[in-house]
Amino acid sequence: MASIKQKFLSRFSNDVGIDLGTANTLVWMRGEGIVVNEPSVVAVNQKTGQIVAVGQSAKDMLGRTPGHIVAVKPIIEGVISDFEVCEEMLAYLIKKASEHKPRWLGPRVVIGVPSGITNVERRAVRDAAKNAGAREVYIVEEPMSAAIGIGLPIKDPIGSMVVDIGGGTTDVAVISLGGIVHSRNIKIAGDKLNNDIISYLRNEFKILIGEKTAEDIKINIGNVFRGDSPLEMPVRGRDLITGLPREVVVTDNDVKEAIGLSIDTLIESIKEVIEITPPEVVSDVMYKGIYLVGGGALLRGLKELFEDSLKIPIHVAGDPLTAVVRGAGVILTDVDSFEDALIENEDELPFIQ
Ligand code: ADP
Ligand code: MG
Repeated sequence: MASIKQKFLSRFSNDVGIDLGTANTLVWMRGEGIVVNEPSVVAVNQKTGQIVAVGQSAKDMLGRTPGHIVAVKPIIEGVISDFEVCEEMLAYLIKKASEHKPRWLGPRVVIGVPSGITNVERRAVRDAAKNAGAREVYIVEEPMSAAIGIGLPIKDPIGSMVVDIGGGTTDVAVISLGGIVHSRNIKIAGDKLNNDIISYLRNEFKILIGEKTAEDIKINIGNVFRGDSPLEMPVRGRDLITGLPREVVVTDNDVKEAIGLSIDTLIESIKEVIEITPPEVVSDVMYKGIYLVGGGALLRGLKELFEDSLKIPIHVAGDPLTAVVRGAGVILTDVDSFEDALIENEDELPFIQ
């Protein structure tokens, strides 16, 4: 049960959940649901240091901006690459959410961060949110938030395993009794698969394609398991020899070959986490299965391939791209009862107030 004080204060402030993903940033608001779902890109005016655009409009500016405006990805491979921009982005999002529904007090904010970020980074995220007007800030590791978002019984003495395949990193986490028992952060995720496809087309077809095209190929025809019917699509790129545009037909087999090594490495990493997990917890996981979240969970055939290689049932979460932010929303309904799931809250750090 939420405390009476919390209930009272919540009438005068907003509750906001934020998923700061490598690829996508999402914001959830109490009473509204998901109010922001945009690529994690910020366009900054280098002359003034001000943010010009955030999200899709900033992404659209990539490569099309005048010299002094640069598009920055604040989080790369699960690590905050640019603190200032990250701060500004948080400020922008909190302000935007507050404008949505103005309240007397600053919002309570739950922020999902990549698992394994350093204490210094966590503190920076917290300070950034505070500076942006948040009244209370709670930080949760993304796989934990995702587990809560998809309704796993995280507080029970039953082990659950969540694999969050995002843009920059994949988080593998084993959760039990409200905490993370083991976790591992692997730098093989959606972006790496896109790069694999770019390299494959360069080597095999001698054409150069961009990241966006590679991602389209992956999503449209990518299949890592035996497919029922072959998939193919025409792809336009620049011929490496003539420098002119050329069209080739790429098949699901090409994609499978291109990303095969990365997918195998991913499977090996999951096996390694299982190997160091206590036997009781492993037995729970074998019985209940592994839950896949994040955009990468949508890759065709991944469920079947993982089941085949790991001999454990695999569940692809419904709406895997929003699991983390939905979890932040659930935490906000009763922050006290999720205390163990949060990696830091202000009461624990009185000395840096
Ligand atoms: P992050 O949490 O790092 O921001 P997301 O969970 O938002 O990442 O997932 C983004 C990744 O998911 C991108 O690399 C994108 O290409 C990938 N993705 C999205 N939809 C699909 C799909 N249908 N098939 C394969 N990959 C997908
Ligand atoms: Mg994520």
